[in-house]
Amino acid sequence: MRPLLAANWKMNPPTLDQAVELALRVAPVARRARARVEVALLPPFVWLESVAGVLRDDEIGVGAQDCHWERSGAYTGEVSAAMLSGWCQWVICGHSERRGYFGETDEQVARKVRAGLDAGLNVILCVGEREEEMVAGRTEAVVTHQLGAALEGLAADLGRVVVAYEPVWAIGTGRNADPERAGATMALIRQMLVGWGAEEPRVLYGGSVNAGNATDYVGLSVCAGCLVGGASLKAEEFSTMIERVAELGGDGDRA
Ligand code: PEP
Repeated sequence: MRPLLAANWKMNPPTLDQAVELALRVAPVARRARARVEVALLPPFVWLESVAGVLRDDEIGVGAQDCHWERSGAYTGEVSAAMLSGWCQWVICGHSERRGYFGETDEQVARKVRAGLDAGLNVILCVGEREEEMVAGRTEAVVTHQLGAALEGLAADLGRVVVAYEPVWAIGTGRNADPERAGATMALIRQMLVGWGAEEPRVLYGGSVNAGNATDYVGLSVCAGCLVGGASLKAEEFSTMIERVAELGGDGDRA
């Protein structure tokens, strides 16, 4: 399966013109590499239509960064998974910034995952430990708990779930996780997914990935790609990342 590079733009860029320009600059590179790398751009809700318009007819994915679990209702400011389904193919659920800044609980994340799948979207579920949990040796326990809360019982739908292992302390800090250690946690996640019946589990790494270190992760047999934040906002850097990952090969020997 081709490795996936998913670009989480977060609340960026600040203007529509900049969003369109970024998509326009990345698109040709992603298009050239598409036999070997799958690319998805995940802009803020309000730029989704325009970014999808730029990429139309391309094999470049588009996604949202969050969704609400109800189809519609009195939830001021929210956007439902069902509403997103006409505009994009992907949705992120449970990003640590949502869990941390907006108090999203495991139960809410689970409902969002279910809603995303019911709406026909592919879900990128984020899991990962905070720094104090890593220091206390609780990485496995935290990740196992978050995964179980969000995915247990999904069975047949697991094929449309990609799990992103994102140590919280590595996000936006420039302190990317040691690939070997991250690989061990990704292997554990993979094993859990297989245990629940996933046939081709996909586990990404996220946390200060850049053009210089992406292949350290994607080169691991357990790693199916990366969720990229800051570096995905720099067209040149993200393009270089796509090219370098493409050079690794969209291989058939990925675990
Ligand atoms: C993210 O937001 O998912 C992320 C991994 O951010 P960054 O690449 O900036 O660490």
